This record gives sequence, structure tokens and C-alpha cells, in this order.
Amino acid sequence: MTVAPASNSATGSLYVVATPIGNLDDMSVRALKVLRDVALIAAEDTRHSLRLMQHFGIATPLAACHEHNERNEGSRFIERLLAGDDVALISDAGTPLISDPGYHLVRQARAAGIKVVPVPGACALIAALSAAGLPSDRFIFEGFLPAKAVGRKSRLEQLREEPRTLIFYEAPHRILECLQDMEAVFGEERPAVLARELTKTFETLKGLPLAQLRSFVEADSNQQRGECVVLVAGWSVAQEDDAISAEARRVLDLLLQDLPVKRAAAVAAEITGVRKNLLYQLALDKQKQ
Ligand code: SAM
Repeated sequence: MTVAPASNSATGSLYVVATPIGNLDDMSVRALKVLRDVALIAAEDTRHSLRLMQHFGIATPLAACHEHNERNEGSRFIERLLAGDDVALISDAGTPLISDPGYHLVRQARAAGIKVVPVPGACALIAALSAAGLPSDRFIFEGFLPAKAVGRKSRLEQLREEPRTLIFYEAPHRILECLQDMEAVFGEERPAVLARELTKTFETLKGLPLAQLRSFVEADSNQQRGECVVLVAGWSVAQEDDAISAEARRVLDLLLQDLPVKRAAAVAAEITGVRKNLLYQLALDKQKQ
């Protein structure tokens, strides 16, 4: 629905409030104040959030705002905001809109000229990145990969040569398949970090090359439980160079004695399983030398 932009200053504000991702001590003083002061809290799951509110002694009414109703019922919240009430938006954990509902409500509010105020706090991807030890100057967040193998692999293929640190959310029952596919697409040696149960009792941050990380998770079913973020180092030419084994280099050298560069690279790729483009690049470099 389209709501006319607000024309008077009596309009309420929409506060987008982050809540903890495990450790309740991560609730900020400001978040508590806002949640106490607003007229209404729009929550992804009111029963879940009620427990959080009870823990902090907050009596503000809750109303459902989840992915199934947010598009159509967002107008209910917009009407309250236009009438002058302040509303807070929360999700089950962490920052709303980050792989969580809230996008449509925020858009509707901004289109209606309502002030939208972020109240920052916990966010699993940022917590994971801050402690993973992978390059953090440039990164991309991919959210959840497709649940089906075909879709997941094709998304990973698209990301194979992405140079920025890659961050994914993953469900525990798919973590092993996800790491297997990452190993197949990004290579055994690509550095990765599994950040599990952040801020909770069994918090684990394990950094290993993908093949070793996959075996670590495979060997210990506890690693296939709980909430997790997977971080993968971005692609770099140096890493790829390392991925070309001595045997693949020998095969390529032999073939280059009899075949044109392109054909030699293609046949060497067929024999060794190393990517054709990598071998082609290596062959060109050899020719230059
Ligand atoms: N809005 C949340 C945020 O700000 O991070 C994310 C919500 S999304 C529905 C839930 C996913 O976030 C989980 O499947 C997991 O990938 C990640 N996640 C949430 N809490 C986590 C935690 N404590 N440790 C590791 N990952 C977590």
C-alpha cells in the first residue's frame, strides 16, 4: 500500500532495534530504553519476544510483524506511526532486516516520511567477522545459500573468484553439505572460519583450510549443532597458483611440447582436474618466460 508522506512533526518514529544473538548481556542500555518508551513493539515472533521482554521487565505491547504478514499488514504499524505513536521493530535475534523480516515495513515507513531510527547492537555476521581473523576491510554478506544442492553449487560457482571475504549464514543440518560444496568449488586450500554459537556457552571459532574444516565438522557431530556463520577468504591469484599441484604442472609441461597452449591446457585440465583457465594462464606465463 502507498501512504502519503507525513506532513506534521507529531508523527512517531520507527526504531529498528537489535536484540542479543545469545548472550542477553548484549542488550544495549539504549535498546532497553527505547523498548520501554515506545507505544508498540513490532516483533517477528511475539511469543519468543515476550520471554525477552519479561526477562528485562518490559511491559510494552507486542504485535506480530513477520515475513508472511509484513507486506500486507505493515500499514497497521504505519497508521500508528502516522497517528503519533513511536514503534520499535525487533526480530527473534540480532539486527532486524539482516536475514530477518522488516525490509517492507522500513520501506513503507520511509515512503510515508516517517523517521526511521537504527538502534544498533548484536549481528551474527559482524560478530563473526570481528573475530575470524580474515580480511575485514572488504567483505560481502551472502545470507543463506539456497537449500537445494543444485542452487547452492551454482551460487557458489558465481562467487568462486570473488576477492572479498565471503560471509554466509547456514542452518546446522546443512553445514556439512555446505562445507563439502564450498570445498569442491573454492578448493581444498581456501582459508575459512566456522563461527558457531557466538556469545553462547559453546561458542567456537575454528579457522582452517576448507578441506580440513570440512573433516573437522564431519568428525564431530557437535559441530553440526547450533547456529553458525561460515566465512571464506576471498579469491586470490596466489592461492590459485598454490592449488596447481606439481603433477599438474608436469603434465602441462609435457603436453606443451606437442600441443598448442589452449589445447594443452584443456587436456591437462581433463587429466588432472585442475581448472582449465588456471592451467591456460600458467601456460601463457610459461610462454612469456
Ligand atoms: N538478524 C540476525 C543477525 O543480526 O545476525 C540473523 C537472523 S538469521 C534468521 C539466523 C542466522 O544467523 C542463523 O541461522 C545463523 O546463521 C546466524 N546466527 C544467529 N545467531 C548466531 C549465533 N549466536 N552464532 C552464530 N550464528 C548465528
